[in-house]
Amino acid sequence: KEIKAHLDRFVIKQDDAKKVLSIAVCDHFNHVKSCLKLKDMCKNYHKQNVIMVGPTGVGKTFLIQCIADLIGVPFVKSDATKFTETGYVGGDVEDLVRQLVSKANGNTDLAQYGIIYLDEIDKISGSSDKVGKDVSGRGVQSNLLKLMEETDVPLKTAWDIQSQLQGFLGKKNKKKETINTRHILFIVSGAFDGLQNIVRKRIEGSKFGFERKNRGYKDNQLVGFSSTQDFIDYGLESEFVGRLPVRVVCNSLDENDLFQILKESETSILNQLIASFKYYDIDTIISDKLLKKIASLAIMEKTGARGLMTVIEKAFRDFKFELPNEFKGKWTVSDDILDGS
Ligand code: ADP
Repeated sequence: KEIKAHLDRFVIKQDDAKKVLSIAVCDHFNHVKSCLKLKDMCKNYHKQNVIMVGPTGVGKTFLIQCIADLIGVPFVKSDATKFTETGYVGGDVEDLVRQLVSKANGNTDLAQYGIIYLDEIDKISGSSDKVGKDVSGRGVQSNLLKLMEETDVPLKTAWDIQSQLQGFLGKKNKKKETINTRHILFIVSGAFDGLQNIVRKRIEGSKFGFERKNRGYKDNQLVGFSSTQDFIDYGLESEFVGRLPVRVVCNSLDENDLFQILKESETSILNQLIASFKYYDIDTIISDKLLKKIASLAIMEKTGARGLMTVIEKAFRDFKFELPNEFKGKWTVSDDILDGS
């Protein structure tokens, strides 16, 4: 409840995701504490890796960022699209584990209990329409699978200059430095465009001989019903989905939600705008009427809360350029600055 209350200060809506993440992170945290206390690897613990599904700009990354601020375990975020199977063109998934060590200031014990967050996981689904070997998709999934299961990741890569030098000089490390990934918590997310159609087909039935039932479910409701098989049909490997037992949907935001973000979220883009004028001793006052107009234009961008930034940047661009040199004090922004946009 404390974690959720913390998230409520910054993130509007997404109550299900807030609850699920609060539970998963608390359990992980308690597990870490007991393992470190008992100096034991607690072999029987089953990780609650999480998969979050939702459109862009609705707060998936933001939720994890807010949680990361709260907890004391090292945390690394990356996009799954950065990786390739061989690590030759893109990065190597094992780099994530090495990054955890640097986030833990070299404390390898702590790094073994860190959290890895991977966004854009839907982009590494191996699509069936590709000809030949899908290097970037399924290969990356199986590499990730090894990490999610249990593997020992060397702290230094073969191409690390320091280790090459040591090898050259005949100096060998007394002990092999590795990190075990058994207790690292994985949180993955993605937009999974089109997943609702796969679920709809399954739920509403399309088999010959049965009447197709249109139950009138909304897209986000359908995504909420998604099963392991639906993710497999989408292109994820069954072993990979199987390692992500906790599933949660982040809902799309409507116009009123965007208005609420401006009004309520402590770190909203509006507060950032007000602070940016404050640097020049300008106290900005913006009416709810104007905020509603901003929200109504932002929703048309179809990029979730990111649309707010686009609209605000455009609306205030000239003022930001002109005002600091000309004005100090209280500035009540006219409600019609967006008219004609
Ligand atoms: P995504 O769902 O694509 O990961 P982000 O979490 O990166 O989206 O959202 C981009 C920005 O939009 C965030 O940094 C935050 O400022 C704002 N934002 C998105 N969703 C919300 C929300 N539900 N409540 C408050 N702010 C939000």
